[in-house]
Amino acid sequence: MTDNERQGTMAETTRPYASDELAEGTIDAVVIGGGAAGLNGALILARSRRSVVVIDSGSPRNAPAEAVHGLLALDGTPPTEILRRGREQVRQYGGHVAFGEVVSAEPAAPSGDGDLRFAVTLADGRSITARRILVATGVTDVLPDVPGLAEHWGHSVVHCPYCHGWEVRDEPIGILATGTASIGHALLFRQLTEDLTYFTHGTDLDDDTRARFAARGIRVIDTPVTEVVNAKDGTLAGVRLADGQVVARRVLGVAPRMLARIQALEGLGLPVQDLPNASRGLASGVAGATDVPGVWVAGNVADAAAQVGASAAAGALAGIEINKALAIADTDAALHRIV
Ligand SMILES: Cc1cc2nc3c(=O)[nH]c(=O)nc-3n(C[C@H](O)[C@H](O)[C@H](O)COP(=O)(O)OP(=O)(O)OC[C@H]3O[C@@H](n4cnc5c(N)ncnc54)[C@H](O)[C@@H]3O)c2cc1C
Repeated sequence: MTDNERQGTMAETTRPYASDELAEGTIDAVVIGGGAAGLNGALILARSRRSVVVIDSGSPRNAPAEAVHGLLALDGTPPTEILRRGREQVRQYGGHVAFGEVVSAEPAAPSGDGDLRFAVTLADGRSITARRILVATGVTDVLPDVPGLAEHWGHSVVHCPYCHGWEVRDEPIGILATGTASIGHALLFRQLTEDLTYFTHGTDLDDDTRARFAARGIRVIDTPVTEVVNAKDGTLAGVRLADGQVVARRVLGVAPRMLARIQALEGLGLPVQDLPNASRGLASGVAGATDVPGVWVAGNVADAAAQVGASAAAGALAGIEINKALAIADTDAALHRIV
């Protein structure tokens, strides 16, 4: 495992929280992933008197961040605190949240009246059967393989001007380019500091863009970056280039590859789409509907650019659609029993 692949698993060390038992029998909906998207979907379903279980492995994408920013009324709140409150609220309405990792999910034999069924299995061997599924497993951020970069992820190595931009304003910032997404990134970070250096790091930068950068005072360095350099106190101090020169920087902006966390969900056959910067996500339609009947998706797994608020909103919309679908199925079943 490389330094940066380790980043993707770093958050897995998050301390487990109190876990509910898995329900017996068939439940209305299982939500895979208990971040903002999954918990808001579960909240809507629990408040609709649906039996719902969230299964969550406890490694939300923003785990390294000290606080969530840009979220109305909750700006500055630690991500763990928002999720703790979210789990509490789901439970308050009778929903369940179980700590665990889903290792497979697949369609199962339909019920006697033809309604859909899915079988979901956890790493510890437990399993659960549900009528509908909401997939909200988020993404893994894959950083460029530069030694020393991953240890600063979410602190001095940042990806999102809206999440941590204000916090790094006026600092000497470097953009470590990963592809075309980094060009727009640079213009956004230029709004936050006048001291911005763009490290092309093997990516293309055409003359027109170089002229535009020059017009905004953005310095461009084409010599590849070989490592991140730390100060004595362990904070980020700069980057070393292939020619040995060290360029002092306090912050690095990186547009990572974002890969939907769906390895365990292949059995559902959900369509995957390629995104810019070699990223991958799940394809979805209105309110997270997918081509697979009975399966909805929400949050970063389907929309890598969604922040916490947008992810929560997507989960809520999917929850509403799942409740609607269940109401129709319940009515079909009632009619089936009468005739
Ligand atoms: C460093 C950093 C800082 C950020 N700061 C901000 C910010 O300040 N403001 C903001 O609005 N946004 C911020 N974001 C973006 C924010 O993290 C996402 O918008 C948000 O986490 C998306 O929510 P989600 O529910 O889709 O996914 P996640 O929050 O990633 O939650 C997915 C959940 O699914 C679980 N899971 C995955 N696979 C499985 C499985 N097989 N079985 C069971 N559970 C599984 C994971 O453990 C995780 O708990 C930041 C992102 C990063 C990387």
